Amino acid sequence: MHIDRGDFPLDGHIPEEIITKIRGSQDIVEVISRHISLKKTGQNYIGRCPFHSEKTPSFVVSPGKQIFHCFGCATGGNVITFLMKYESITFPEAVKRLAHDAGIEILERHRKGEKGEKFLYEVNKAAADYYHKLLSAAKESETARKYLLARGLSMETIKRFKIGYSINSWNGVYDHLRKEGFKEEDMVKAGIVAPNTSGSGCHDRFRGRVMLPIYDIQNRVVGFGGRVLDDSTPKYLNSPETPIFSKGHLLYGLDAVKNSIREAGYAILVEGYMDVIALHQAGVTNVVGTLGTAFTINHLRLLNRFCKEAVLTFDSDPAGINAALRTMDIFIDSEVKAKVLLLPEGDDPDTFIGKNGKAAFLALVQSAKGIIDFALDRIIDEVRKTASDQGDSINSKVKGAGDCLSIIKKIPNRIEQDQYIQRVSKGLGIEKEVLLSELRRGNEKKKGAPPEKVPKKVKEAAVEKPKAEEILLGLLVKDWALRKMVGDILRVEDFTNPQFQEIAGHLLRSERDIHEIINSEGCNQGMKDTMTKMAVNEMYFDSPEKTLSDCIKVLQRNRLDREFKEVEKEIAAAELGGIFERVKELLLKKQELLRQKKVLYEN
Ligand SMILES: [Zn+2]
Repeated sequence: MHIDRGDFPLDGHIPEEIITKIRGSQDIVEVISRHISLKKTGQNYIGRCPFHSEKTPSFVVSPGKQIFHCFGCATGGNVITFLMKYESITFPEAVKRLAHDAGIEILERHRKGEKGEKFLYEVNKAAADYYHKLLSAAKESETARKYLLARGLSMETIKRFKIGYSINSWNGVYDHLRKEGFKEEDMVKAGIVAPNTSGSGCHDRFRGRVMLPIYDIQNRVVGFGGRVLDDSTPKYLNSPETPIFSKGHLLYGLDAVKNSIREAGYAILVEGYMDVIALHQAGVTNVVGTLGTAFTINHLRLLNRFCKEAVLTFDSDPAGINAALRTMDIFIDSEVKAKVLLLPEGDDPDTFIGKNGKAAFLALVQSAKGIIDFALDRIIDEVRKTASDQGDSINSKVKGAGDCLSIIKKIPNRIEQDQYIQRVSKGLGIEKEVLLSELRRGNEKKKGAPPEKVPKKVKEAAVEKPKAEEILLGLLVKDWALRKMVGDILRVEDFTNPQFQEIAGHLLRSERDIHEIINSEGCNQGMKDTMTKMAVNEMYFDSPEKTLSDCIKVLQRNRLDREFKEVEKEIAAAELGGIFERVKELLLKKQELLRQKKVLYEN
């Protein structure tokens, strides 16, 4: 197959039929097998999920539907999604990779695609130069310069991070880049300017903000974070996601500090740009930032190239502690070991080091606990607290020990397991042997069980008894013909779960198949995960049509019930307010609802 590169720009707008062709050229089982080992079970294949750490495989690949779904971490998608996640690449890059691997030659007549991507880097760099120059020289930047100096930033730091300023103008960077010869469409694609809502012309996206260029690992500017100088919102504005800018795949500062990280042997992870810069300036240089997002497995892969230890900083409030615990699974089976650094309440790294200095911060780093110790200690402390508050030590001990063991169970290394068992034994005052036999018992139960066609977790998920809404969507995801049948009968409002509403919106309104929906821009990861779960879950029905119409009835009844309750509430309110015209209207509505309900319940 030959595809003209002229029809295949790399800016994310690849025609749907070309994507379908390329996707169809490669079998998902074959592609995934190149990276992880899969075993056949019934109609599907299963293996250990590459996106979270697990001992028991719960990563299911369906050759029939060309979809994967992990019942452990609930992530899912098609072959393109898999490559994007696994290789930390963008959608167009994944499509290109697939085409290449399948030996599909893409004729490069215009070289338009390549130019498109290269231009994105050039536009971003030119913008960064412009902002940086403005900050150091322009009169309009006076306040920004004062602000940065007041925050303690030196000129050297400003240069090092190439910090800039976007003046408060609607066309500052736009006019400048035009003069430099850049095309409007390239500026829009790079996210530097945004099209006007009126439909013609563009305006600067960043105005009156301190500009922090974000570099990829090859030292190319791929986007910006822009911070306001006052208390207005949003405090930070980031570049939109573009073919070269994806927050989950970038660590702020990594290009500049990778050697420091190598030398130190560990990286300190913070959330904000200013945290990175402030620590750096204070002499702690092995620091990178997550651009305000949660730490992902893609971040871990990036770090893994430079060090084997990460110190993650969190607030010491409950939200921070939960965030720390959520990160644990990413690290549990990883080469990179994680430690948790809790900052005093109310402080972020920037303010902490400003008040207390480098030595105090490094002391915090020194005292950071391994993430598993941290999690176990939380549980142990909780058990002790309950015991002293309520004098009830047995129940909370049993539960606490169970929680600890479920963490320890996930650790693949026996010696490490043993270390943690000792910690729990000491902390909870339970004999080590007892804990060990509990742990073994859990393992044997698994081993002794008859060979299962589906992993335990899958089974659990399946017997969770999906409700009518989920069953119905599951049927629609799998069967196109059924979708046509219900398109006129069902409404998005018939669903109560917001995610189901979103999925229903896509399924009921379009004729796209599941892959087209997954590949479309409007499909977020949550939707992908839920839809792939539905597609992979095997539910057998003697008559799908009958099940479908039963489900529809349940949904419609539920909706009528909800509306009915609503009307009754409104009637009561109208009566109370003495608005009798409204009461009359509502009573009619109530009667109509009653009639509809009767029809539904009789049929
Ligand atoms: Zn997983």
